[in-house]
Amino acid sequence: MSDKKAITAEILCVGTELLLGDIVNTNAAYLSWGLAQLGIHVYRHTVVGDNPKRLCHALEAAFSEADLVITSGGLGPTYDDLTKETVAAYFGREMELHEPSLEAIRSYFQKTGRVMTKNNEKQAMMPRGAIVFPNAYGTAPSLAIEDGDKTAIMLPGPPGELIPLFETKIRPYLESKRSSVLVSKNVHIFGMGESAVEEKLKGLMTESENPTVAPYCKEGEVRLRVTAEAEDANEASLMCDAVIEKIRSTEVGGCIYGIDVDSLENAVVCGLRKRGMTVAAAESLTGGLIAKRITDISGCSDVFLGGCVTYTNEIKHRLLGVSNETLDAYGAVSSATAMEMARGVRERTGADIGVSATGIAGPTGGTEETPVGTVYIGVSSARGESFRRLDLSARRSRDYIRMVSASNAYDMVLKEMDSLSE
Ligand code: ATP
Repeated sequence: MSDKKAITAEILCVGTELLLGDIVNTNAAYLSWGLAQLGIHVYRHTVVGDNPKRLCHALEAAFSEADLVITSGGLGPTYDDLTKETVAAYFGREMELHEPSLEAIRSYFQKTGRVMTKNNEKQAMMPRGAIVFPNAYGTAPSLAIEDGDKTAIMLPGPPGELIPLFETKIRPYLESKRSSVLVSKNVHIFGMGESAVEEKLKGLMTESENPTVAPYCKEGEVRLRVTAEAEDANEASLMCDAVIEKIRSTEVGGCIYGIDVDSLENAVVCGLRKRGMTVAAAESLTGGLIAKRITDISGCSDVFLGGCVTYTNEIKHRLLGVSNETLDAYGAVSSATAMEMARGVRERTGADIGVSATGIAGPTGGTEETPVGTVYIGVSSARGESFRRLDLSARRSRDYIRMVSASNAYDMVLKEMDSLSE
């Protein structure tokens, strides 16, 4: 691995437990995240069992493309922990005793009051010429072998050792070699499907190599991940901002509810707080989900006054003041009812914005005129009342219909607070 050039990497995890599905490969995810922050391109994740022959093949395949291979696991004291020996053999290095490691292992056992066995000494055997990174979190030191343009870094498997070793030893080691950093920003979109977003941003997504724009779909929302590579984080950040501005200037712009925000409800809480406004919710089909998701956010009481679940017509009338005429003439699942619910909760709580949801979550209860998935979201503020009708009939899962209804309620609150502060 030569200095100051773009580094390509493979993450090679060793462990039969991983192949059997006994444990989840969180180390690979963590290392990928860490390497991306360093501007190192991860080409591939590989998993092999505790088998030196297959590990050796995996190393050959990895180094045929990557400059850097980071392994996790197989550094323990037992006979099947063979990563270090196999990597040493791959580079043609002899194993030799590394006195400082032996001392460190001895003192680790002394400190933790455990008895050191003969096979723990194996952990102090290192390939000749290896760079050794002492492990303050366990007994297996981490190590690197540099050989011309190729570098192998070996880390122990337990995440409680791998993560702090990566942060305190490997990150600084790699930082001295990296030529660039990657910065990613997430553009959160609601109200436009993934294919429509792709259609509107086709050029930007296919032609742009730096920054790249990649879409991800998540529970009724679309997230665009804008990633720029530059010499420093500030420059990469500005490159991302320029692309985000371009996205804002397209039709997609109107559906962006935040950059790097955790969720719609988070955007609502932050937006209301910034404006000194409050909201309250009147819920029917969502059964409290609008209130639940917002109250999942710690400290939301300065913007969320409360809400009520009004399932029957009688309770809608008694608690929220929805008129019997409206309920008789239009039914509970109607725009008129949704707007009266929103007004009722706003007036009764004194909130700046009242929001409501009424609809049919299914799978039973649908009719020809009002099929399952028909939902009305109402909003009330000093500007008056408005509503949004949703047709979620194609998505017949009760959970999905309720979740998307709550998301639409937040989206309408976001739009309403914007209008109120204009
Ligand atoms: P030790 O010194 O503890 O033996 P080691 O380097 O030999 O460490 P392994 O024996 O391969 O590591 O794995 C030890 C434990 O670490 C596993 O039982 C598992 O709990 C965890 N582990 C190993 N690999 C991974 C991985 N890729 N992702 C998450 N956890 C892992």
